[in-house]
Amino acid sequence: MEVEIDSNSGFCFGVVNAIQLAEMELEKTDLLYCLGDIVHNNAEVERLKGKGLTTINHEEFKNLKNCKVLLRAHGEPPETYKIALENNIQLIDASCPVVLKLQKNIKLGFDAILEKGGQVVIYGKEGHAEVNGLVGQTNGKAIVIGGIDDLEKIDFSKPINIFSQTTKSIEGFYAIEKEIRNRMIDSQRKDNVQLISNDTICRQVSHRQPQLREFVKRHDVVVFVSGKKSSNGKMLFQVCKDENPNTYFVSDENELEKAWFEKATSVGICGATSTPRWLMEKIAESVKK
Ligand code: SF4
Repeated sequence: MEVEIDSNSGFCFGVVNAIQLAEMELEKTDLLYCLGDIVHNNAEVERLKGKGLTTINHEEFKNLKNCKVLLRAHGEPPETYKIALENNIQLIDASCPVVLKLQKNIKLGFDAILEKGGQVVIYGKEGHAEVNGLVGQTNGKAIVIGGIDDLEKIDFSKPINIFSQTTKSIEGFYAIEKEIRNRMIDSQRKDNVQLISNDTICRQVSHRQPQLREFVKRHDVVVFVSGKKSSNGKMLFQVCKDENPNTYFVSDENELEKAWFEKATSVGICGATSTPRWLMEKIAESVKK
């Protein structure tokens, strides 16, 4: 049986950067706090925990003083920086530059659309860490849309500036944008509605979709490796499953089932932008055994 690991799968540069920063800091100190899981992958979180990286939530963060806290690639709302300043917390800011640029553009977009009495809409997952950071740029006023069912939150009679969470699917974004435009046209009874569309999906994620489709087509069975909390993992798994129905989602090697591989002559191992390479290698070894 041939087992191939997808060379394009694994950490994106934002996650690589956050982990490098954490490891550099941990060489100098035994304890470093991280606000939320550094990456949506338990195996990698556990590996870094062994080196002294302690994950805390936002409630715990508020009660800390005089220490160092790492901010992960997802980015944070302005409130987090304010608390750090008040509590003498030194931030190791590993927010991804792509997310920081999006935060800045949302802030500018919000100020501009506010003058016209309009709304900022973010296509993303309500409560997701990155989305919380984005909504924070608008004083909590941005409207978060996860899918068509959420569109009733929007007032279609007003101008709209729409952005996307970086890890959403491109098809999903353009489907939502089209639906919003149609509803604005209906509501305002004119074609030239004020809809500013910002496709802010990260190309580190979107470029993986066509590459993954090609990869999974080449194999009888595909094992997709990802943490269960990863949005990007869920989305890319679906891309693989649609292309090759013999695709299975696992978080670690214990979830592999012998029956999946009975008739397979080739197996592909791939994963999300939050999946460590070492975990895919470990799973490839288990499959071979
Ligand atoms: S997916 Fe893109 S935006 Fe998100 S952390 Fe990775 S590089 Fe940054």
